[in-house]
Amino acid sequence: ATPMSVMVGVGKAAEYGILIRQGEALQTAADLDTVVLDKTGTITEGRPALTRVLAADGDTEEEVLTLAASLEAGSEHPLARAIMTAAEERGLSPRSVSDFQALNGKGVSARLDGATLRLGNRRWLEQEGVTLALQDQAAALSEDAATPLFLARDDRVIGVLGVADRIKDDAADAIRRLRERGLRVIMITGDIQASADAIARQAGVDEVLAEVLPEDKAREVKRLQQDGAKVAMVGDGINDAPALAQADVGFAIGTGTDVAIESAAVTLMSGSLHGVADAMAISRATLGNIK
Ligand code: ADP
Ligand code: MG
Repeated sequence: ATPMSVMVGVGKAAEYGILIRQGEALQTAADLDTVVLDKTGTITEGRPALTRVLAADGDTEEEVLTLAASLEAGSEHPLARAIMTAAEERGLSPRSVSDFQALNGKGVSARLDGATLRLGNRRWLEQEGVTLALQDQAAALSEDAATPLFLARDDRVIGVLGVADRIKDDAADAIRRLRERGLRVIMITGDIQASADAIARQAGVDEVLAEVLPEDKAREVKRLQQDGAKVAMVGDGINDAPALAQADVGFAIGTGTDVAIESAAVTLMSGSLHGVADAMAISRATLGNIK
């Protein structure tokens, strides 16, 4: 395309709230055939809320939520906000912990009263040699599209917290539009399979890559490209940044993290997934103009 037609296309896109930072993206967008969508904050609102607190024998729900909030006080993760807000609403004050650590895609840990506390997903706790509990209840939570977080004190699970997020109002519509254009749509997430599948069903996505560690999202995009796909990646988080940079066109959600926005060629200001199909349509129109 000529510089002039690219300028016109970039201007047109801006009217739709689509900020194109790299002009080539406008041309590449016409050729996309695969769209990889992050789950949390991209398909969903990214404002998860606590839905359930379960305590194992010997602990109370209040104690479980208090300990969970004590752990999450140092975390910036959306799941942490859900737990902090719920504790505050119930008038529970977090206690101060030491040796806090946040482990990407796994959870958080710290020391309190001479014990090691961990809060995160089951796979990580199993790797740490923790004895599980409340597994059936946790499975029931994930069937309802909530994410179960396991709380462990030393080597034993003492509680499970269910945290759930709604899909964006127009997500299913936007995804249907992409599929009608013949695009392959894939959801990618660090969340567990059952919770991811429940959200995917609501959103109308039938391919799900779950339990993908943050560092592996870019590798999944690369694998699709090696199979010949032209890949759009849509994401909002720090953990999506390498995949956004790896994709043929990266779309950052405008309300997402700065790191995601800086790694992507395009920013969807309103966060609506309709921006992906809109960008492709504008791309085709722009290229058509200069034939
Ligand atoms: P996503 O790809 O959906 O944005 P992440 O890679 O950020 O997910 O996290 C994947 C999983 O790791 C979460 O579903 C959760 O089980 C666990 N996890 C990550 N951070 C935290 C945290 N601060 N507290 C509890 N669990 C966490
Ligand atoms: Mg996200």
